[in-house]
Amino acid sequence: MDNKFQCPLCHSLARKTDKFDSEVFEIDCPRCGKYTLWGNSLISRLVTVTDEDKLILSSHLRELYESGNKNIDISNKDLDERLKQAKASKPSSFSEKMFRLLRAIEKKLPSAGSTISPYSDENRYYLMAMSYSKDYTELCYYVEECLEKMGYLKLFPENNSSPTITGRPTSPEYRLTPEAWKYLEEYKLKDRTRSDKAFIAIKFDEEYESAYNAIEAAVEDAGYKPIRADKEHHSEYIMDWIINQIKEARFIVAELTSKNLGVYYEFGYAKALDIPIIACLKKNKGESDEEALKSVHFDLKQFPIIIYENADKNDLGEKVLNRIKNLVGKRE
Ligand SMILES: [Zn+2]
Repeated sequence: MDNKFQCPLCHSLARKTDKFDSEVFEIDCPRCGKYTLWGNSLISRLVTVTDEDKLILSSHLRELYESGNKNIDISNKDLDERLKQAKASKPSSFSEKMFRLLRAIEKKLPSAGSTISPYSDENRYYLMAMSYSKDYTELCYYVEECLEKMGYLKLFPENNSSPTITGRPTSPEYRLTPEAWKYLEEYKLKDRTRSDKAFIAIKFDEEYESAYNAIEAAVEDAGYKPIRADKEHHSEYIMDWIINQIKEARFIVAELTSKNLGVYYEFGYAKALDIPIIACLKKNKGESDEEALKSVHFDLKQFPIIIYENADKNDLGEKVLNRIKNLVGKRE
Protein backbone atom coordinates (compact mmCIF):
# COMPACT_ATOMS: atom_id res chain seq x y z
CA MET A 1 0.00 0.00 0.00
CA ASP A 2 1.27 3.42 -0.91
CA ASN A 3 -0.32 6.53 0.53
CA LYS A 4 0.09 10.11 1.66
CA PHE A 5 1.12 10.49 5.24
CA GLN A 6 2.35 13.20 7.57
CA CYS A 7 6.02 12.58 8.38
CA PRO A 8 6.24 12.02 12.16
CA LEU A 9 9.55 13.91 12.32
CA CYS A 10 9.07 17.05 10.23
CA HIS A 11 5.29 16.98 9.60
CA SER A 12 5.76 17.37 5.86
CA LEU A 13 3.47 15.49 3.56
CA ALA A 14 5.38 12.31 2.81
CA ARG A 15 4.75 9.04 1.05
CA LYS A 16 4.40 5.91 3.15
CA THR A 17 4.84 2.36 1.95
CA ASP A 18 4.08 -0.56 4.24
CA LYS A 19 6.86 -3.10 4.45
CA PHE A 20 6.47 -6.72 5.58
CA ASP A 21 3.50 -5.89 7.77
CA SER A 22 1.65 -2.81 8.91
CA GLU A 23 4.18 -2.19 11.70
CA VAL A 24 7.04 -1.22 9.41
CA PHE A 25 6.85 1.80 7.12
CA GLU A 26 9.14 3.06 4.47
CA ILE A 27 8.82 6.83 4.41
CA ASP A 28 9.79 9.02 1.50
CA CYS A 29 9.78 12.53 2.93
CA PRO A 30 10.66 15.71 1.01
CA ARG A 31 12.61 17.03 4.03
CA CYS A 32 14.01 13.92 5.78
CA GLY A 33 14.73 11.82 2.68
CA LYS A 34 13.95 8.11 2.71
CA TYR A 35 13.93 6.17 5.95
CA THR A 36 12.25 3.17 7.52
CA LEU A 37 10.22 3.41 10.73
CA TRP A 38 9.93 0.28 12.83
CA GLY A 39 6.74 -0.02 14.84
CA ASN A 40 3.68 1.99 15.71
CA SER A 41 5.05 2.27 19.26
CA LEU A 42 7.81 4.47 17.85
CA ILE A 43 5.26 6.82 16.32
CA SER A 44 3.51 7.18 19.66
CA ARG A 45 6.85 7.74 21.37
CA LEU A 46 7.83 10.43 18.87
CA VAL A 47 4.85 12.44 20.11
CA THR A 48 6.77 12.98 23.37
CA VAL A 49 9.90 14.30 21.59
CA THR A 50 10.03 18.09 21.16
CA ASP A 51 9.51 19.52 17.67
CA GLU A 52 12.94 21.10 17.84
CA ASP A 53 14.62 17.74 18.48
CA LYS A 54 12.57 16.05 15.76
CA LEU A 55 13.70 18.64 13.22
CA ILE A 56 17.34 18.16 14.23
CA LEU A 57 16.84 14.43 13.71
CA SER A 58 15.15 15.12 10.37
CA SER A 59 18.15 17.18 9.21
CA HIS A 60 20.60 14.56 10.47
CA LEU A 61 18.77 11.80 8.57
CA ARG A 62 18.77 13.90 5.41
CA GLU A 63 22.52 14.47 5.70
CA LEU A 64 23.05 10.71 6.06
CA TYR A 65 20.76 10.10 3.09
CA GLU A 66 22.58 12.67 0.96
CA SER A 67 25.93 11.15 1.85
CA GLY A 68 24.80 7.91 0.23
CA ASN A 69 23.02 6.01 3.00
CA LYS A 70 19.98 4.52 1.41
CA ASN A 71 19.04 2.16 4.27
CA ILE A 72 18.24 4.33 7.24
CA ASP A 73 16.18 2.62 9.95
CA ILE A 74 14.75 4.08 13.13
CA SER A 75 13.31 1.91 15.85
CA ASN A 76 12.15 2.48 19.39
CA LYS A 77 15.35 0.86 20.62
CA ASP A 78 17.75 3.25 18.94
CA LEU A 79 15.71 6.46 19.06
CA ASP A 80 17.58 7.91 22.06
CA GLU A 81 20.92 7.17 20.49
CA ARG A 82 19.80 8.66 17.16
CA LEU A 83 18.69 11.83 18.92
CA LYS A 84 21.98 12.16 20.79
CA GLN A 85 23.93 11.66 17.60
CA ALA A 86 21.78 14.10 15.67
CA LYS A 87 22.39 16.75 18.31
CA ALA A 88 26.11 16.04 18.32
CA SER A 89 26.39 16.43 14.55
CA LYS A 90 24.31 19.55 14.00
CA PRO A 91 26.23 22.68 12.95
CA SER A 92 27.89 24.16 16.01
CA SER A 93 28.23 27.70 14.66
CA PHE A 94 26.62 30.13 12.24
CA SER A 95 29.48 29.83 9.75
CA GLU A 96 29.24 26.04 9.84
CA LYS A 97 25.52 26.35 9.05
CA MET A 98 26.17 28.71 6.15
CA PHE A 99 28.85 26.39 4.83
CA ARG A 100 26.50 23.39 4.89
CA LEU A 101 23.76 25.36 3.12
CA LEU A 102 26.16 26.58 0.43
CA ARG A 103 27.54 23.08 -0.01
CA ALA A 104 23.99 21.74 -0.38
CA ILE A 105 23.29 24.35 -3.06
CA GLU A 106 26.56 23.54 -4.81
CA LYS A 107 25.59 19.86 -4.92
CA LYS A 108 22.52 20.72 -7.01
CA LEU A 109 24.46 22.70 -9.62
CA PRO A 110 25.62 20.80 -12.70
CA SER A 111 28.25 23.47 -13.42
CA ALA A 112 29.66 26.68 -11.94
CA GLY A 113 27.44 29.00 -13.96
CA SER A 114 24.19 27.07 -13.43
CA THR A 115 21.32 28.57 -11.52
CA ILE A 116 19.22 27.17 -8.69
CA SER A 117 15.73 28.04 -7.57
CA PRO A 118 16.02 27.49 -3.80
CA TYR A 119 12.29 27.78 -3.13
CA SER A 120 11.06 25.37 -5.77
CA ASP A 121 9.11 22.34 -4.50
CA GLU A 122 12.08 20.14 -5.25
CA ASN A 123 14.71 22.25 -3.48
CA ARG A 124 12.88 23.94 -0.64
CA TYR A 125 12.60 20.97 1.73
CA TYR A 126 16.05 19.71 0.88
CA LEU A 127 17.62 23.09 1.72
CA MET A 128 15.53 23.47 4.89
CA ALA A 129 16.89 20.12 6.07
CA MET A 130 20.49 20.80 5.10
CA SER A 131 20.47 24.22 6.82
CA TYR A 132 18.67 22.88 9.93
CA SER A 133 15.94 25.49 9.36
CA LYS A 134 12.85 25.13 11.50
CA ASP A 135 10.61 26.49 8.75
CA TYR A 136 10.45 28.10 5.34
CA THR A 137 10.84 31.64 6.74
CA GLU A 138 14.14 30.67 8.33
CA LEU A 139 15.41 29.29 5.03
CA CYS A 140 14.40 32.54 3.25
CA TYR A 141 16.34 34.47 5.88
CA TYR A 142 19.50 32.40 5.29
CA VAL A 143 19.20 32.72 1.52
CA GLU A 144 18.25 36.39 1.22
CA GLU A 145 19.56 38.09 4.35
CA CYS A 146 22.67 35.98 4.83
CA LEU A 147 24.09 34.28 1.75
CA GLU A 148 22.91 36.93 -0.69
CA LYS A 149 24.06 39.87 1.46
CA MET A 150 27.33 38.13 2.29
CA GLY A 151 27.98 38.10 -1.45
CA TYR A 152 27.80 34.33 -1.93
CA LEU A 153 24.52 34.22 -3.87
CA LYS A 154 23.41 36.52 -6.65
CA LEU A 155 19.97 36.80 -8.21
CA PHE A 156 19.89 35.78 -11.83
CA PRO A 157 19.20 37.53 -14.09
CA GLU A 158 20.59 40.45 -12.09
CA ASN A 159 17.84 42.89 -12.98
CA ASN A 160 15.13 40.34 -12.21
CA SER A 161 12.06 42.39 -11.47
CA SER A 162 9.05 40.11 -11.60
CA PRO A 163 6.30 41.93 -9.75
CA THR A 164 5.46 40.27 -6.45
CA ILE A 165 4.26 41.56 -3.10
CA THR A 166 7.79 41.77 -1.79
CA GLY A 167 9.06 43.27 -4.99
CA ARG A 168 11.05 40.11 -5.60
CA PRO A 169 10.37 37.16 -7.85
CA THR A 170 8.37 34.44 -6.09
CA SER A 171 10.71 31.76 -7.23
CA PRO A 172 14.02 33.55 -7.67
CA GLU A 173 16.90 31.95 -9.49
CA TYR A 174 20.32 32.30 -7.96
CA ARG A 175 23.89 31.70 -8.98
CA LEU A 176 26.87 31.11 -6.73
CA THR A 177 29.34 34.00 -6.95
CA PRO A 178 33.09 33.52 -7.46
CA GLU A 179 33.48 34.44 -3.77
CA ALA A 180 31.22 31.51 -2.90
CA TRP A 181 33.27 29.06 -4.94
CA LYS A 182 36.45 30.32 -3.32
CA TYR A 183 34.89 30.10 0.15
CA LEU A 184 33.67 26.54 -0.51
CA GLU A 185 37.11 25.53 -1.70
CA GLU A 186 38.85 26.96 1.36
CA TYR A 187 36.30 25.63 3.81
CA LYS A 188 36.40 22.16 2.31
CA LEU A 189 40.12 21.92 3.00
CA LYS A 190 39.19 22.11 6.66
CA ASP A 191 36.10 19.97 6.29
CA ARG A 192 36.34 16.76 8.23
CA THR A 193 33.34 15.13 6.58
CA ARG A 194 35.49 14.41 3.55
CA SER A 195 38.06 12.45 5.53
CA ASP A 196 38.21 8.69 5.12
CA LYS A 197 40.32 8.16 8.25
CA ALA A 198 39.15 6.71 11.53
CA PHE A 199 41.46 6.94 14.51
CA ILE A 200 41.33 3.97 16.88
CA ALA A 201 42.24 4.78 20.48
CA ILE A 202 42.95 1.54 22.28
CA LYS A 203 45.54 0.26 24.77
CA PHE A 204 48.56 -1.40 23.12
CA ASP A 205 48.34 -4.74 24.77
CA GLU A 206 47.81 -8.32 23.68
CA GLU A 207 44.70 -8.42 25.85
CA TYR A 208 43.05 -5.88 23.52
CA GLU A 209 44.24 -7.34 20.25
CA SER A 210 40.98 -9.14 19.48
CA ALA A 211 38.97 -5.99 20.30
CA TYR A 212 41.25 -4.03 17.99
CA ASN A 213 40.78 -6.55 15.20
CA ALA A 214 36.99 -6.44 15.52
CA ILE A 215 36.98 -2.62 15.47
CA GLU A 216 39.44 -2.47 12.57
CA ALA A 217 37.30 -4.83 10.48
CA ALA A 218 34.14 -2.82 11.24
CA VAL A 219 35.86 0.45 10.27
CA GLU A 220 37.01 -1.11 7.00
CA ASP A 221 33.57 -2.60 6.30
CA ALA A 222 32.14 0.90 6.61
CA GLY A 223 34.64 2.13 4.01
CA TYR A 224 37.07 3.99 6.29
CA LYS A 225 40.79 3.65 6.81
CA PRO A 226 41.68 2.60 10.37
CA ILE A 227 44.59 4.49 11.94
CA ARG A 228 46.35 3.20 15.02
CA ALA A 229 49.54 4.66 16.37
CA ASP A 230 51.60 1.47 16.61
CA LYS A 231 50.53 0.13 13.23
CA GLU A 232 51.86 3.12 11.33
CA HIS A 233 55.37 4.13 10.42
CA HIS A 234 56.21 7.57 11.61
CA SER A 235 59.28 9.45 12.63
CA GLU A 236 57.75 12.52 14.23
CA TYR A 237 57.32 12.77 17.95
CA ILE A 238 54.52 10.29 18.59
CA MET A 239 52.19 12.65 20.45
CA ASP A 240 52.32 15.21 17.62
CA TRP A 241 51.63 12.43 15.21
CA ILE A 242 48.63 11.20 17.19
CA ILE A 243 47.21 14.73 17.54
CA ASN A 244 47.52 15.26 13.79
CA GLN A 245 45.84 11.97 13.02
CA ILE A 246 42.93 12.78 15.32
CA LYS A 247 42.58 16.23 13.76
CA GLU A 248 42.32 14.68 10.31
CA ALA A 249 39.97 11.86 11.31
CA ARG A 250 36.32 11.62 10.31
CA PHE A 251 35.64 10.02 13.69
CA ILE A 252 37.46 8.15 16.45
CA VAL A 253 36.72 4.84 18.15
CA ALA A 254 37.79 4.76 21.80
CA GLU A 255 38.00 1.48 23.69
CA LEU A 256 37.56 2.51 27.33
CA THR A 257 37.78 -0.84 29.15
CA SER A 258 41.50 -0.60 29.91
CA LYS A 259 41.11 2.79 31.70
CA ASN A 260 44.26 3.68 29.82
CA LEU A 261 45.31 7.32 30.22
CA GLY A 262 46.38 7.60 26.59
CA VAL A 263 42.93 6.49 25.42
CA TYR A 264 41.20 9.00 27.70
CA TYR A 265 43.54 11.73 26.51
CA GLU A 266 42.69 10.98 22.88
CA PHE A 267 38.99 10.82 23.73
CA GLY A 268 39.17 14.24 25.40
CA TYR A 269 41.12 15.75 22.56
CA ALA A 270 38.60 14.54 19.97
CA LYS A 271 35.71 15.73 22.15
CA ALA A 272 37.20 19.21 22.38
CA LEU A 273 37.45 19.35 18.58
CA ASP A 274 33.85 18.14 18.12
CA ILE A 275 35.04 15.03 16.32
CA PRO A 276 32.43 12.25 16.43
CA ILE A 277 33.41 9.59 18.96
CA ILE A 278 32.37 5.97 19.18
CA ALA A 279 33.16 4.71 22.68
CA CYS A 280 33.04 1.07 23.70
CA LEU A 281 33.31 -0.82 26.94
CA LYS A 282 33.52 -4.53 27.70
CA LYS A 283 31.32 -5.99 30.40
CA ASN A 284 31.97 -9.20 32.27
CA LYS A 285 29.76 -12.23 31.82
CA GLY A 286 26.53 -11.82 33.74
CA GLU A 287 27.21 -8.18 34.50
CA SER A 288 24.52 -5.59 33.69
CA ASP A 289 25.27 -2.59 31.46
CA GLU A 290 24.78 -0.28 34.45
CA GLU A 291 27.36 -2.21 36.48
CA ALA A 292 29.84 -2.12 33.63
CA LEU A 293 29.37 1.65 33.19
CA LYS A 294 30.43 2.23 36.80
CA SER A 295 33.98 1.46 35.78
CA VAL A 296 34.12 4.42 33.38
CA HIS A 297 36.33 7.14 34.83
CA PHE A 298 34.50 10.38 34.35
CA ASP A 299 30.91 11.33 33.85
CA LEU A 300 29.95 10.03 30.45
CA LYS A 301 26.27 9.59 31.26
CA GLN A 302 25.26 11.78 28.34
CA PHE A 303 27.48 9.80 26.05
CA PRO A 304 26.17 6.76 24.19
CA ILE A 305 28.68 4.01 25.02
CA ILE A 306 28.61 0.65 23.26
CA ILE A 307 28.64 -2.16 25.83
CA TYR A 308 29.87 -5.48 24.49
CA GLU A 309 30.56 -8.87 25.97
CA ASN A 310 32.64 -10.51 23.25
CA ALA A 311 35.50 -8.82 21.46
CA ASP A 312 34.59 -10.42 18.14
CA LYS A 313 32.95 -9.65 14.82
CA ASN A 314 29.43 -10.63 15.88
CA ASP A 315 29.25 -8.62 19.06
CA LEU A 316 31.72 -5.71 19.24
CA GLY A 317 32.30 -5.56 15.47
CA GLU A 318 28.60 -5.52 14.61
CA LYS A 319 27.84 -2.85 17.21
CA VAL A 320 30.68 -0.61 16.05
CA LEU A 321 29.64 -0.99 12.41
CA ASN A 322 26.04 -0.04 13.22
CA ARG A 323 27.20 2.95 15.22
CA ILE A 324 29.40 4.15 12.36
CA LYS A 325 26.43 3.91 9.99
CA ASN A 326 24.23 5.92 12.35
CA LEU A 327 26.84 8.48 13.28
CA VAL A 328 28.68 9.39 10.10
CA GLY A 329 27.32 6.98 7.48
CA LYS A 330 29.00 4.36 5.38
CA ARG A 331 31.44 5.52 2.71
CA GLU A 332 30.55 4.19 -0.70
ZN1 LIG B 1 10.20 14.25 7.31
